Amino acid sequence: MKFNGIDFDTYFKHYPDANGYFGKYGGAYIAPELQAAMKEITYAYFTICQSRKFISELRRIRREFQGRPTPVSHLERLSTKIGGVQLYAKREDLNHTGAHKLNHCMGEALLAKYMGKKKVIAETGAGQHGVALATAAAYFGLECDIYMGSVDIKKQAPNVARMKILGANVVEVTHGLATLKEAVDAAFEAYAKEYKDAIYCIGSVLGPHPFPMMVRDFQHVVGEEAREQFVEMTGHLPDAIVACVGGGSNAAGFFSGFLNDPVDIYGIEPLGRGAKLGDHAASLKYGSEGVMHGFNSIMLKVENGEPAPVYSVASGLDYPSSGPEHAFLHDLGRVKYDVIGDDEAIDAFFELSRMEGIIPAIESAHAVAYGIKLAKEMGTGSALINLSGRGDKDMDYVIEHYGIR
Ligand SMILES: *Cc1c(COP(=O)(O)O)cnc(C)c1O
Repeated sequence: MKFNGIDFDTYFKHYPDANGYFGKYGGAYIAPELQAAMKEITYAYFTICQSRKFISELRRIRREFQGRPTPVSHLERLSTKIGGVQLYAKREDLNHTGAHKLNHCMGEALLAKYMGKKKVIAETGAGQHGVALATAAAYFGLECDIYMGSVDIKKQAPNVARMKILGANVVEVTHGLATLKEAVDAAFEAYAKEYKDAIYCIGSVLGPHPFPMMVRDFQHVVGEEAREQFVEMTGHLPDAIVACVGGGSNAAGFFSGFLNDPVDIYGIEPLGRGAKLGDHAASLKYGSEGVMHGFNSIMLKVENGEPAPVYSVASGLDYPSSGPEHAFLHDLGRVKYDVIGDDEAIDAFFELSRMEGIIPAIESAHAVAYGIKLAKEMGTGSALINLSGRGDKDMDYVIEHYGIR
C-alpha cells in the first residue's frame, strides 16, 4: 500500500536506514566512548537476532514463560452501550508481569545472553521498565543494575520492592532533581565504563540507533498477533486501531502489524491537566524538532533547548519526547496523533472496569477513552484498542486521588 509517496510493502526494509533514520528523525547522537558499544549492539542485532536459533528460542520463551499469544477480546457490553461500532481489545495486560514491556525486555536479555554479557543495565522512572527487566534478568541468570532517582525510589516503593525481590540491584541517583533524567545519564555513564561485560536495555522505542528499531521489532509480535486474531474472529480488518504513546513502544509494535493495511491508526498522547507547557506530555502535538537522550525527534523543550518538565496522571506516559518513528509517521500523516487528558482517562479506567471486568493501566485507559470517543464519531464499523497493561499498580492512587466514580 502506498501512502504519501511511501511504499508500505517494503517499509521495514528502508525504515530505519543504515544509520538509524526514519526520514530526518532518529540517528545516534552519543558520546565517542559509547560509539563502539552501539556498533557492537547493532552488529549483534543484525546477526544474532535474525538467526533461526534466536528466533525459535524467543518464540518458545514467549509461549512457555510469557503466556503468548495474548488474546483479543470483544468488548461486547461496552460496544452495545455506545451503539454501532464494535470495540475490541488486544490484551497485553495478560502478558506476564502485566504489560507489554516484557516483550522487549526478554528480547534484549536473550540478546545479552547470546552476546556473552553478564549484566543488563537500565534506568527507570516509575519502575515499570525496571521490574520487567529485573524479571528477564532473573529468568536468564544475568546481573541487573537499575538506576533510579531517589525521588522516584520514594514514590515507587512497591516497584522498588519487586525489583529487589527479583534480585536486581537498585542504584540510587541523588544528584540534580534525582528523577528520570538524572537516572538516564547515570545509567549511560555506567554503561560506557562497563560495556564489555554489560548491555544497556532501553525501556521504549527511544535512545540512539539501534534501540528504536530493535524495541519496535521485539514489540512487533503484538501487532502481528492482533491482526491475525482479529481477522480470524471477524473475517475482516478493523476500521481503526488505537494505542497510547509515551515513548511509543506498545504503539510502535501494535501499529507495525497494520501499517500496510487500509486501517486508520491513532496514537494517543497524554494531555494531563491541559495544554500549558508543564501540564502535559503531548510531545508530538505541542513539541518541535530537537535532540535529546541520543536521538533526533519531536520534543517538548524549554527556551535553552533542554527537555521541558512534563506531567501526566499516567507515569508511564510522562516523557518529553516520543520515538523517532512516531515523529516520522506523524509528519507523514500515516498515523493520526491526538490527546486525552487525565480526567477522561480516569473515566475510561472505571468504564472498562465496570462494563468488561478489565481494570486497565491508566496509560492504557488513554487509548480506551479515545476508542470510546472515536466509536461515537464513527457510528458503524470496528475498532481495536491495544490494552498495554493492567491497572493493579494504579488502584491505590486512583482511589486516593479520585475516589470511586
Ligand atoms: C510503560 C507503559 C506505557 C508507555 O510506554 P510506551 O513505550 O509508550 O508503550 C504504556 N502502558 C503501560 C501499561 C506501560 O507500563
